[in-house]
Amino acid sequence: MSMEKIDFGEVFRTTQTDRQARFLIVCEHASNRIPADLNNLGLSDEAVQSHVAWDPGALGVAQALLQALPSVLVEGAVSRLVYDCNRPPEALSAIPEQSEIYAIAGNAGLSQADRDLRADHVYRPFARAITQQIETHRETLELMVTVHSFTPVFNGRERAVEIGILHGEDQSFAQAMMAHQPAGAAYDIRMNEPYDASDGVAHTLDVQGARHGLRNVMIEIRNDLIQTPDQQERMGAFLADWIQVAFAAHKAQEGAA
Ligand SMILES: [Zn+2]
Repeated sequence: MSMEKIDFGEVFRTTQTDRQARFLIVCEHASNRIPADLNNLGLSDEAVQSHVAWDPGALGVAQALLQALPSVLVEGAVSRLVYDCNRPPEALSAIPEQSEIYAIAGNAGLSQADRDLRADHVYRPFARAITQQIETHRETLELMVTVHSFTPVFNGRERAVEIGILHGEDQSFAQAMMAHQPAGAAYDIRMNEPYDASDGVAHTLDVQGARHGLRNVMIEIRNDLIQTPDQQERMGAFLADWIQVAFAAHKAQEGAA
């Protein structure tokens, strides 16, 4: 099949609740949509519904953050199996041939031209949308937060961590969040779990956040905690309070330094 004919449709969405956005929320893996021309990449509907295709629940949490904070949200609108927008085009994992237990037939043996087409139509518009928001809100933006979810069982092993606070090359805000956890938080919260930057997950943080001089942090939530809209809303409210407390502390520390 000629890849030239693929209609990728809308590959990102931007939503804003406040003209004076202080927080940039990014949700790279918000959607499991696979453009019809790609025929589900050869996967079953079950696989496309599963966490391998997206981060279930993450968008609901990101939207709750958007409501709670003066912010702007950029979300991906295509499955990460088509192109993982938290990976640079040169990373093989940007278009995975295998994800956990699933072989992705529609990604097997792609030519460089096929890979370039996906990067040009999915990754680059998404990345440009983020950069554009950073430029538009340069005067007011203070922090970038990326929101993800992870599966409670990975390759047959259960994960105890419930919320992961991850950092890239600038770890200062992640440290502030770890140091200022809400009193009595009933979650198992850990730094750099279940992944860390060595897994390649700090791409957006580094390329969009650190490179533009923005404080940044990545939040990973175990997806069994955010299955319903109600759970997503409560998690979003919990994180919004936490982020604001950590932000105040971080800013005070910068002022004192
Ligand atoms: Zn993710």
